[in-house]
Amino acid sequence: MTNPITLSPPVDASVDRTLQLIGSGASAGSSCSPGLTSGPWEYDVGPAGAPAAPGYGPGASQDDPIPGAAPRQGALPASYTEATEAELHERIRAAKAELGERVVVLGHFYQRDEVVAHADFVGDSFQLAKAARTRPEAEAIVFCGVHFMAETADLLSTAEQSVILPNLAAGCSMADMADLDSVMDCWEQLEEVYGTTPDEAGRAPVIPVTYMNSSAALKGFVGQHGGIVCTSSNAAAVLDWAFERGQRVLFFPDQHLGRNTAKAMGIGLEQMPLWNPRKPLGGNTEQELDEAKVLLWHGFCSVHKRFTVDQIAKARAEYPDVHVVVHPECPMPVVDAADSAGSTDFIVKAIEAAPAGSTFAIGTEINLVQRLAAQYPQHTIFCLDPVICPCSTMYRIHPGYLAWVLESLLAGEVVNRITVSDEVADPARVALERMLSVAPRATAGTQR
Ligand code: SF4
Repeated sequence: MTNPITLSPPVDASVDRTLQLIGSGASAGSSCSPGLTSGPWEYDVGPAGAPAAPGYGPGASQDDPIPGAAPRQGALPASYTEATEAELHERIRAAKAELGERVVVLGHFYQRDEVVAHADFVGDSFQLAKAARTRPEAEAIVFCGVHFMAETADLLSTAEQSVILPNLAAGCSMADMADLDSVMDCWEQLEEVYGTTPDEAGRAPVIPVTYMNSSAALKGFVGQHGGIVCTSSNAAAVLDWAFERGQRVLFFPDQHLGRNTAKAMGIGLEQMPLWNPRKPLGGNTEQELDEAKVLLWHGFCSVHKRFTVDQIAKARAEYPDVHVVVHPECPMPVVDAADSAGSTDFIVKAIEAAPAGSTFAIGTEINLVQRLAAQYPQHTIFCLDPVICPCSTMYRIHPGYLAWVLESLLAGEVVNRITVSDEVADPARVALERMLSVAPRATAGTQR
């Protein structure tokens, strides 16, 4: 028998409450870590104020290390950690009401429901950064998401606006998997193998493409090296752009998005070697590099890596009419076994457009899946993964932090501001502008 939590629509959208029920034994479901029911501030500082242990806290990326240079969150005052959910809700509501137009709160699809409830805009990272541009009068943009998203919002906002990340420890383990030093080292090796001279058609030997889920430093790197940024919605159109200008592509940090996109474009797997930054030539021979069309960085999302072909088989056995839709950050066999694959926006739109009574098994982060199940009770919607396992890094944002940053603003203090230096921001904006100039393909997802 499949886990009843996942194969029936959840009663409410809150993953937190689901986890509390599991933790108390009131629900038969399972979670990937008992620590999920603790406050995330318990991971900000270790015992006696010692630095927090490496790792992003409980959840799907809990075993991914936090880079040494990543920002750490200090202790949250007890008036926030000890407040009840209802008290925090009221404090946030009151602070927002008093701040009015001075603040805009952005909530990523993968945020907990108790945070999304206060968001002025809800969406994926790029939709949110663009939404913030519609509020130039707001002096503060509170980005309830992860670090690279706040950086992108800073790149796209005005110099007068402050972008605030409520918990500095909310990074992204996938973005961490490609750092500037490793990418520059890779680039030097590629220049040695391929040279720097364009071919007869004027195409550069390699074009670097970075997924939106990367640091501003990497967006700056691609901007300086003739490259471009992509999202999960426009990756195929961006690869078309890159192949008009280059003989091959270096794609980072997510190997799965790169592989799934390139495969759907007809590029053979043998032309997509993996680049392991810990090995000379990324672990490849010169001949393999010579035959490559897309060099895939050895990065992945720990949330989307959890989905398996077996989970899809179980869903189909239980619901013969099920439509399986997964995110392209899932491994290739999972995308191949699904009925369709696309960005979070694609998934949301597929559900919106479906006739009442449809059944969806979804391969993406549990907070979004559970919210969709609650929003569309006319459908049966469940997560492919029977274990409740939110993104650890997104889960670092709790209403306590949101209340803290908003009440600090009221007190005249900007805490947790994220800024990108001009040196990085200028080329990073070039890479983003190139992306914006790319016309999207007719469909942003793949349908089987
Ligand atoms: S879901 Fe994956 S890519 Fe998104 S923030 Fe979490 S770890 Fe990063």
